Amino acid sequence: MAIRPENLTNKTNRETNFCFSKNRGARESDYSEDSSDSESHQQAAPPKPLRRNPGSFDDLTQGDIVDYYTTVSPSGEYPGSATLQRKGSPGVWVPPGIDHNLVKQYLAALPEDKRPVNTLGVQWRIKQLQTQLPRYDHNINYCHEMSPEEQEELFMFVESRKEKAQGQGEVKSFKKKSKKKCDKCGGLVDCAVIADKIPGRVWHPGCFSCTTCEEVLVDLIYFQYDGRLYCGRHHAELLRPRCHACDELIFGQEFITADKHEYHKEHFCCWECDTGLGGAKYVSHKGQPYCQGCYEKLFCTRCVTCREPIGAGAPLFKHGALRWHGNPQCYACSFCKTSLVNRTFMPTERYVYCSKNCYRCHESLRKTKGK
Ligand SMILES: [Zn+2]
Ligand SMILES: [Zn+2]
Ligand SMILES: [Zn+2]
Ligand SMILES: [Zn+2]
Ligand SMILES: [Zn+2]
Ligand SMILES: [Zn+2]
Repeated sequence: MAIRPENLTNKTNRETNFCFSKNRGARESDYSEDSSDSESHQQAAPPKPLRRNPGSFDDLTQGDIVDYYTTVSPSGEYPGSATLQRKGSPGVWVPPGIDHNLVKQYLAALPEDKRPVNTLGVQWRIKQLQTQLPRYDHNINYCHEMSPEEQEELFMFVESRKEKAQGQGEVKSFKKKSKKKCDKCGGLVDCAVIADKIPGRVWHPGCFSCTTCEEVLVDLIYFQYDGRLYCGRHHAELLRPRCHACDELIFGQEFITADKHEYHKEHFCCWECDTGLGGAKYVSHKGQPYCQGCYEKLFCTRCVTCREPIGAGAPLFKHGALRWHGNPQCYACSFCKTSLVNRTFMPTERYVYCSKNCYRCHESLRKTKGK
Protein backbone atom coordinates (compact mmCIF):
# COMPACT_ATOMS: atom_id res chain seq x y z
CA MET A 1 0.00 0.00 0.00
CA ALA A 2 2.56 2.56 -1.08
CA ILE A 3 1.50 5.70 -2.89
CA ARG A 4 3.59 8.47 -4.40
CA PRO A 5 3.03 11.79 -2.65
CA GLU A 6 1.33 14.50 -4.62
CA ASN A 7 3.28 17.54 -5.64
CA LEU A 8 3.14 20.69 -3.63
CA THR A 9 -0.32 22.13 -4.33
CA ASN A 10 -2.00 25.42 -3.72
CA LYS A 11 -5.33 25.41 -1.96
CA THR A 12 -8.28 25.85 -4.26
CA ASN A 13 -9.87 28.63 -2.22
CA ARG A 14 -9.77 31.74 -4.26
CA GLU A 15 -8.08 34.77 -2.88
CA THR A 16 -9.02 37.90 -4.71
CA ASN A 17 -8.39 41.56 -4.30
CA PHE A 18 -11.36 43.87 -4.33
CA CYS A 19 -12.04 46.23 -7.19
CA PHE A 20 -14.16 49.30 -7.64
CA SER A 21 -16.72 49.53 -10.40
CA LYS A 22 -18.77 52.36 -11.73
CA ASN A 23 -22.47 52.12 -11.07
CA ARG A 24 -24.47 51.26 -14.17
CA GLY A 25 -27.06 53.89 -13.29
CA ALA A 26 -30.80 53.57 -13.74
CA ARG A 27 -31.82 53.05 -17.32
CA GLU A 28 -35.18 54.64 -16.80
CA SER A 29 -35.63 57.85 -14.94
CA ASP A 30 -38.26 60.48 -14.92
CA TYR A 31 -38.00 62.90 -12.08
CA SER A 32 -40.60 65.50 -11.30
CA GLU A 33 -39.47 68.18 -8.84
CA ASP A 34 -43.04 68.94 -7.76
CA SER A 35 -43.68 65.61 -6.10
CA SER A 36 -40.43 65.43 -4.14
CA ASP A 37 -42.14 66.35 -0.88
CA SER A 38 -44.72 63.62 -1.10
CA GLU A 39 -42.60 60.92 0.58
CA SER A 40 -43.23 60.48 4.23
CA HIS A 41 -40.23 60.43 6.55
CA GLN A 42 -42.27 60.30 9.74
CA GLN A 43 -41.96 56.60 10.51
CA ALA A 44 -39.64 55.40 13.28
CA ALA A 45 -36.73 53.64 11.63
CA PRO A 46 -36.57 49.90 12.34
CA PRO A 47 -33.14 48.37 12.97
CA LYS A 48 -31.18 47.85 9.76
CA PRO A 49 -28.79 44.95 10.02
CA LEU A 50 -25.47 45.00 8.22
CA ARG A 51 -26.41 41.66 6.70
CA ARG A 52 -29.87 40.56 5.73
CA ASN A 53 -30.65 37.03 4.81
CA PRO A 54 -33.28 37.09 2.06
CA GLY A 55 -34.18 33.55 3.16
CA SER A 56 -35.49 34.58 6.60
CA PHE A 57 -38.90 36.14 7.13
CA ASP A 58 -40.86 38.00 9.73
CA ASP A 59 -44.40 37.07 10.62
CA LEU A 60 -46.54 39.86 9.26
CA THR A 61 -49.68 41.06 11.03
CA GLN A 62 -52.57 42.59 9.11
CA GLY A 63 -51.17 45.99 10.15
CA ASP A 64 -47.74 45.07 8.74
CA ILE A 65 -49.34 44.04 5.48
CA VAL A 66 -51.25 47.31 5.18
CA ASP A 67 -47.94 49.07 5.89
CA TYR A 68 -46.37 46.91 3.20
CA TYR A 69 -48.92 48.13 0.71
CA THR A 70 -48.50 51.78 1.59
CA THR A 71 -44.78 51.24 0.97
CA VAL A 72 -44.73 49.12 -2.16
CA SER A 73 -47.99 49.55 -4.08
CA PRO A 74 -48.26 52.24 -6.76
CA SER A 75 -51.41 53.70 -5.23
CA GLY A 76 -50.17 53.45 -1.63
CA GLU A 77 -53.46 51.79 -0.67
CA TYR A 78 -54.32 48.32 0.49
CA PRO A 79 -56.59 46.90 -2.20
CA GLY A 80 -57.65 43.62 -0.56
CA SER A 81 -61.24 42.63 -1.17
CA ALA A 82 -63.34 43.64 1.82
CA THR A 83 -65.90 40.90 1.36
CA LEU A 84 -63.52 37.97 1.59
CA GLN A 85 -61.11 39.06 4.28
CA ARG A 86 -61.66 37.31 7.53
CA LYS A 87 -61.10 39.57 10.50
CA GLY A 88 -57.69 39.17 12.15
CA SER A 89 -56.48 36.83 9.45
CA PRO A 90 -53.53 38.64 7.93
CA GLY A 91 -52.82 36.38 5.00
CA VAL A 92 -56.21 35.99 3.38
CA TRP A 93 -56.25 37.82 0.10
CA VAL A 94 -58.24 37.81 -3.11
CA PRO A 95 -57.68 40.07 -6.12
CA PRO A 96 -59.13 43.55 -5.65
CA GLY A 97 -62.25 44.42 -7.62
CA ILE A 98 -62.72 40.84 -8.74
CA ASP A 99 -66.21 39.71 -9.79
CA HIS A 100 -67.64 37.59 -6.97
CA ASN A 101 -68.36 34.67 -9.33
CA LEU A 102 -64.75 34.63 -10.49
CA VAL A 103 -63.14 34.28 -7.06
CA LYS A 104 -63.57 30.50 -6.87
CA GLN A 105 -62.36 30.04 -10.42
CA TYR A 106 -59.31 32.24 -9.81
CA LEU A 107 -58.33 30.44 -6.61
CA ALA A 108 -58.81 27.02 -8.21
CA ALA A 109 -56.47 28.04 -11.03
CA LEU A 110 -53.61 28.66 -8.56
CA PRO A 111 -51.37 25.87 -7.26
CA GLU A 112 -52.94 24.75 -3.96
CA ASP A 113 -49.98 25.86 -1.80
CA LYS A 114 -50.20 29.36 -3.30
CA ARG A 115 -53.90 30.04 -2.70
CA PRO A 116 -53.78 32.94 -0.24
CA VAL A 117 -56.82 31.62 1.64
CA ASN A 118 -55.44 28.39 3.16
CA THR A 119 -52.65 27.98 5.72
CA LEU A 120 -49.90 27.07 3.25
CA GLY A 121 -50.95 29.81 0.86
CA VAL A 122 -51.05 32.39 3.65
CA GLN A 123 -47.49 31.45 4.64
CA TRP A 124 -46.41 31.53 1.00
CA ARG A 125 -47.88 35.01 0.62
CA ILE A 126 -46.15 36.43 3.71
CA LYS A 127 -42.82 35.01 2.56
CA GLN A 128 -43.25 36.21 -1.01
CA LEU A 129 -44.27 39.75 -0.04
CA GLN A 130 -40.91 40.03 1.72
CA THR A 131 -38.96 38.25 -1.02
CA GLN A 132 -40.48 39.80 -4.11
CA LEU A 133 -41.09 43.27 -2.70
CA PRO A 134 -38.28 44.23 -0.30
CA ARG A 135 -39.47 47.40 1.43
CA TYR A 136 -36.00 48.94 1.18
CA ASP A 137 -36.39 48.95 -2.62
CA HIS A 138 -39.34 51.29 -2.19
CA ASN A 139 -38.88 53.48 0.85
CA ILE A 140 -35.90 55.26 2.37
CA ASN A 141 -37.17 54.54 5.89
CA TYR A 142 -36.11 50.92 5.49
CA CYS A 143 -32.66 51.68 4.08
CA HIS A 144 -29.26 52.21 5.63
CA GLU A 145 -28.07 55.76 5.98
CA MET A 146 -27.75 57.29 2.53
CA SER A 147 -26.00 60.35 1.16
CA PRO A 148 -28.26 63.10 -0.27
CA GLU A 149 -27.25 61.96 -3.78
CA GLU A 150 -28.18 58.35 -3.02
CA GLN A 151 -31.49 59.47 -1.54
CA GLU A 152 -32.30 61.38 -4.69
CA GLU A 153 -31.33 58.40 -6.87
CA LEU A 154 -33.62 56.15 -4.81
CA PHE A 155 -36.47 58.63 -5.06
CA MET A 156 -36.12 58.88 -8.85
CA PHE A 157 -35.85 55.12 -9.10
CA VAL A 158 -39.05 54.56 -7.11
CA GLU A 159 -41.05 57.21 -8.98
CA SER A 160 -39.88 56.00 -12.37
CA ARG A 161 -40.74 52.39 -11.56
CA LYS A 162 -44.20 53.33 -10.31
CA GLU A 163 -44.91 55.24 -13.48
CA LYS A 164 -43.38 53.00 -16.13
CA ALA A 165 -43.11 49.51 -14.77
CA GLN A 166 -45.30 48.68 -11.81
CA GLY A 167 -48.89 47.53 -11.74
CA GLN A 168 -51.33 45.07 -10.24
CA GLY A 169 -52.87 42.42 -12.44
CA GLU A 170 -56.63 42.24 -12.90
CA VAL A 171 -58.60 39.01 -13.10
CA LYS A 172 -61.05 38.73 -16.01
CA SER A 173 -63.22 36.04 -17.45
CA PHE A 174 -62.88 35.19 -21.15
CA LYS A 175 -65.37 33.32 -23.29
CA LYS A 176 -64.13 30.10 -24.88
CA LYS A 177 -64.72 31.46 -28.38
CA SER A 178 -62.34 34.38 -27.68
CA LYS A 179 -59.54 31.79 -28.20
CA LYS A 180 -57.25 33.90 -25.98
CA LYS A 181 -53.97 32.14 -25.23
CA CYS A 182 -51.79 32.42 -22.14
CA ASP A 183 -48.62 34.44 -22.80
CA LYS A 184 -46.51 32.00 -20.81
CA CYS A 185 -47.74 28.50 -21.65
CA GLY A 186 -49.77 29.11 -24.81
CA GLY A 187 -52.83 27.32 -23.40
CA LEU A 188 -56.35 28.66 -23.87
CA VAL A 189 -57.67 30.76 -20.99
CA ASP A 190 -61.09 31.27 -19.45
CA CYS A 191 -60.23 32.94 -16.14
CA ALA A 192 -57.09 35.00 -16.76
CA VAL A 193 -54.95 37.85 -15.50
CA ILE A 194 -54.39 41.02 -17.53
CA ALA A 195 -51.76 43.70 -16.88
CA ASP A 196 -52.39 47.27 -18.04
CA LYS A 197 -48.65 47.95 -18.50
CA ILE A 198 -48.40 44.99 -20.93
CA PRO A 199 -51.59 45.48 -22.93
CA GLY A 200 -53.14 42.82 -25.15
CA ARG A 201 -51.78 39.80 -23.29
CA VAL A 202 -53.33 37.37 -20.83
CA TRP A 203 -51.98 34.80 -18.38
CA HIS A 204 -53.40 31.87 -16.45
CA PRO A 205 -53.39 32.86 -12.74
CA GLY A 206 -50.66 30.25 -12.11
CA CYS A 207 -48.65 31.52 -15.11
CA PHE A 208 -48.60 35.15 -13.95
CA SER A 209 -45.03 34.82 -12.71
CA CYS A 210 -41.59 36.45 -12.64
CA THR A 211 -39.34 35.86 -15.67
CA THR A 212 -36.26 35.51 -13.42
CA CYS A 213 -37.38 33.48 -10.38
CA GLU A 214 -40.49 32.00 -12.03
CA GLU A 215 -42.40 32.47 -8.78
CA VAL A 216 -46.10 33.35 -9.06
CA LEU A 217 -46.40 37.11 -8.50
CA VAL A 218 -47.69 37.72 -5.00
CA ASP A 219 -50.97 39.69 -4.87
CA LEU A 220 -50.64 40.07 -8.67
CA ILE A 221 -48.13 42.91 -8.14
CA TYR A 222 -45.97 42.93 -11.26
CA PHE A 223 -43.22 44.97 -12.89
CA GLN A 224 -42.65 44.99 -16.63
CA TYR A 225 -39.37 45.30 -18.50
CA ASP A 226 -39.28 44.98 -22.31
CA GLY A 227 -42.79 43.53 -22.18
CA ARG A 228 -41.82 40.78 -19.73
CA LEU A 229 -43.18 40.21 -16.22
CA TYR A 230 -40.92 40.44 -13.17
CA CYS A 231 -41.31 40.47 -9.42
CA GLY A 232 -40.17 43.69 -7.72
CA ARG A 233 -36.85 42.22 -6.57
CA HIS A 234 -35.79 40.95 -9.97
CA HIS A 235 -37.04 43.98 -11.87
CA ALA A 236 -34.99 46.21 -9.57
CA GLU A 237 -31.93 44.06 -10.20
CA LEU A 238 -32.21 44.69 -13.94
CA LEU A 239 -31.64 48.37 -13.17
CA ARG A 240 -29.36 48.44 -10.13
CA PRO A 241 -26.82 46.20 -8.42
CA ARG A 242 -27.91 44.74 -5.08
CA CYS A 243 -25.60 44.59 -2.06
CA HIS A 244 -24.85 40.96 -1.24
CA ALA A 245 -24.52 41.85 2.45
CA CYS A 246 -27.46 44.12 3.35
CA ASP A 247 -29.67 43.11 0.37
CA GLU A 248 -30.42 46.76 -0.44
CA LEU A 249 -29.98 48.25 -3.90
CA ILE A 250 -26.83 50.26 -4.49
CA PHE A 251 -27.38 53.87 -5.50
CA GLY A 252 -23.88 55.27 -4.96
CA GLN A 253 -21.42 55.67 -7.83
CA GLU A 254 -18.83 53.38 -6.30
CA PHE A 255 -19.27 49.86 -5.06
CA ILE A 256 -17.25 46.71 -4.66
CA THR A 257 -17.48 43.64 -6.85
CA ALA A 258 -16.07 40.42 -5.45
CA ASP A 259 -16.72 36.85 -6.55
CA LYS A 260 -19.62 37.88 -8.82
CA HIS A 261 -21.37 39.75 -5.99
CA GLU A 262 -21.71 43.48 -5.49
CA TYR A 263 -21.40 45.29 -2.15
CA HIS A 264 -21.80 48.76 -0.75
CA LYS A 265 -18.22 49.87 -0.11
CA GLU A 266 -18.78 49.94 3.65
CA HIS A 267 -20.60 46.59 3.67
CA PHE A 268 -17.78 44.56 2.17
CA CYS A 269 -16.86 43.09 5.54
CA CYS A 270 -15.80 39.81 7.05
CA TRP A 271 -18.96 37.71 7.46
CA GLU A 272 -17.83 36.69 10.94
CA CYS A 273 -16.20 39.69 12.65
CA ASP A 274 -17.47 42.61 10.49
CA THR A 275 -13.95 43.93 9.83
CA GLY A 276 -13.94 46.01 6.64
CA LEU A 277 -12.22 44.13 3.82
CA GLY A 278 -11.91 46.93 1.24
CA GLY A 279 -8.31 46.83 0.00
CA ALA A 280 -7.50 43.92 2.32
CA LYS A 281 -6.84 40.29 1.52
CA TYR A 282 -9.87 38.12 2.06
CA VAL A 283 -10.95 34.55 1.48
CA SER A 284 -14.24 33.61 -0.09
CA HIS A 285 -16.18 30.72 1.43
CA LYS A 286 -19.56 29.72 -0.06
CA GLY A 287 -19.85 33.13 -1.71
CA GLN A 288 -19.19 35.02 1.53
CA PRO A 289 -16.02 36.98 2.28
CA TYR A 290 -13.95 36.35 5.43
CA CYS A 291 -10.83 37.97 6.82
CA GLN A 292 -7.79 35.70 6.93
CA GLY A 293 -8.02 35.20 10.71
CA CYS A 294 -11.71 34.25 10.80
CA TYR A 295 -11.34 32.00 7.80
CA GLU A 296 -8.56 30.09 9.51
CA LYS A 297 -10.49 29.90 12.78
CA LEU A 298 -13.69 28.70 11.12
CA PHE A 299 -12.84 26.68 8.07
CA CYS A 300 -9.14 26.15 7.81
CA THR A 301 -7.72 22.65 7.66
CA ARG A 302 -4.98 21.78 10.14
CA CYS A 303 -1.63 20.17 9.49
CA VAL A 304 -1.55 16.45 10.42
CA THR A 305 1.87 16.85 12.03
CA CYS A 306 1.96 20.20 13.86
CA ARG A 307 -1.87 20.68 14.21
CA GLU A 308 -1.52 24.37 13.25
CA PRO A 309 -3.93 25.81 10.63
CA ILE A 310 -2.80 25.92 7.02
CA GLY A 311 -3.40 29.43 5.68
CA ALA A 312 -5.61 29.91 2.64
CA GLY A 313 -3.45 29.78 -0.47
CA ALA A 314 -0.40 28.59 1.51
CA PRO A 315 1.64 25.76 -0.04
CA LEU A 316 0.68 22.35 1.28
CA PHE A 317 0.92 18.62 0.76
CA LYS A 318 -2.27 16.63 0.59
CA HIS A 319 -3.40 13.06 0.44
CA GLY A 320 -7.11 12.22 0.54
CA ALA A 321 -8.52 14.27 3.42
CA LEU A 322 -5.08 14.75 5.05
CA ARG A 323 -3.15 18.03 4.76
CA TRP A 324 0.37 19.12 5.75
CA HIS A 325 2.23 22.41 5.62
CA GLY A 326 4.37 22.53 2.51
CA ASN A 327 7.67 21.91 4.31
CA PRO A 328 9.65 18.69 4.84
CA GLN A 329 9.41 18.93 8.66
CA CYS A 330 5.61 18.80 8.62
CA TYR A 331 5.26 16.46 5.68
CA ALA A 332 6.86 13.58 7.54
CA CYS A 333 6.28 10.10 8.94
CA SER A 334 3.85 10.28 11.87
CA PHE A 335 6.15 8.04 13.93
CA CYS A 336 9.84 8.59 13.10
CA LYS A 337 9.41 12.10 11.59
CA THR A 338 11.42 11.22 8.47
CA SER A 339 10.46 13.61 5.70
CA LEU A 340 8.20 12.04 3.08
CA VAL A 341 9.07 14.50 0.30
CA ASN A 342 9.75 12.45 -2.85
CA ARG A 343 9.25 9.17 -0.99
CA THR A 344 6.63 6.46 -1.10
CA PHE A 345 4.52 6.32 2.04
CA MET A 346 1.81 4.36 3.81
CA PRO A 347 -1.34 6.30 4.64
CA THR A 348 -4.03 5.41 7.17
CA GLU A 349 -7.18 7.38 7.86
CA ARG A 350 -5.43 9.89 10.15
CA TYR A 351 -1.66 9.32 9.77
CA VAL A 352 1.10 8.54 7.26
CA TYR A 353 4.18 6.37 7.71
CA CYS A 354 7.47 5.89 5.95
CA SER A 355 7.35 2.11 6.52
CA LYS A 356 5.28 -0.80 7.82
CA ASN A 357 7.55 -0.89 10.80
CA CYS A 358 6.71 2.72 11.80
CA TYR A 359 3.03 1.95 11.29
CA ARG A 360 3.22 -1.06 13.67
CA CYS A 361 5.24 0.83 16.29
CA HIS A 362 2.88 3.82 16.21
CA GLU A 363 -0.19 1.57 16.42
CA SER A 364 1.07 -0.29 19.49
CA LEU A 365 2.24 2.97 21.10
CA ARG A 366 -1.21 4.51 20.54
CA LYS A 367 -2.87 1.39 21.98
CA THR A 368 -0.79 1.51 25.16
CA LYS A 369 -1.48 5.27 25.46
CA GLY A 370 -5.16 4.54 24.81
CA LYS A 371 -5.41 7.02 21.89
ZN1 LIG B 1 -50.52 29.52 -18.86
ZN1 LIG C 1 -38.50 37.23 -9.35
ZN1 LIG D 1 -25.04 46.99 1.71
ZN1 LIG E 1 -13.11 38.26 10.44
ZN1 LIG F 1 2.64 21.65 10.04
ZN1 LIG G 1 8.90 6.40 9.92
